[in-house]
Amino acid sequence: MIKYKLICKDCNNVFDSWFSNSKEYEKLKKKKYLNCHICESTRVEKTLMAPNVLNTSGFKDEEVNKIKEIKFKLREFKKFIKNNFKYVGEKFAYEARSIHYDPKKKKKPIYGKASRKQIEELKQEGIKTEVFPWIEDKEN
Ligand SMILES: [Zn+2]
Repeated sequence: MIKYKLICKDCNNVFDSWFSNSKEYEKLKKKKYLNCHICESTRVEKTLMAPNVLNTSGFKDEEVNKIKEIKFKLREFKKFIKNNFKYVGEKFAYEARSIHYDPKKKKKPIYGKASRKQIEELKQEGIKTEVFPWIEDKEN
């Protein structure tokens, strides 16, 4: 089974649909069996959101299992971060500094986005950061 995110060209409705394989999708589309749940338009197409993929064909089964295990751990890790850290988004460098330089401010854990340059600058100022991989929930 394969899941596609489909978009309706008429009303921009985005929805998930399952197919047994990519050929089935093409077949249904050609026969105009694919339609939007909202406006019933048949101008429905796959969204071009490209997932990150690994070619694991060179790996042995146990190595593929190891990858799955790591992905599972990453997901656990993400859950831990979400539960224990506050998300500050692009303001990460700013927030990290304000926590670091304001002694009255509570040292609360935060996470967010920063460029390599910002991370390097924070490091030079003695602010500890960790960079970690982020895995999307929807990935298998
Ligand atoms: Zn529609």
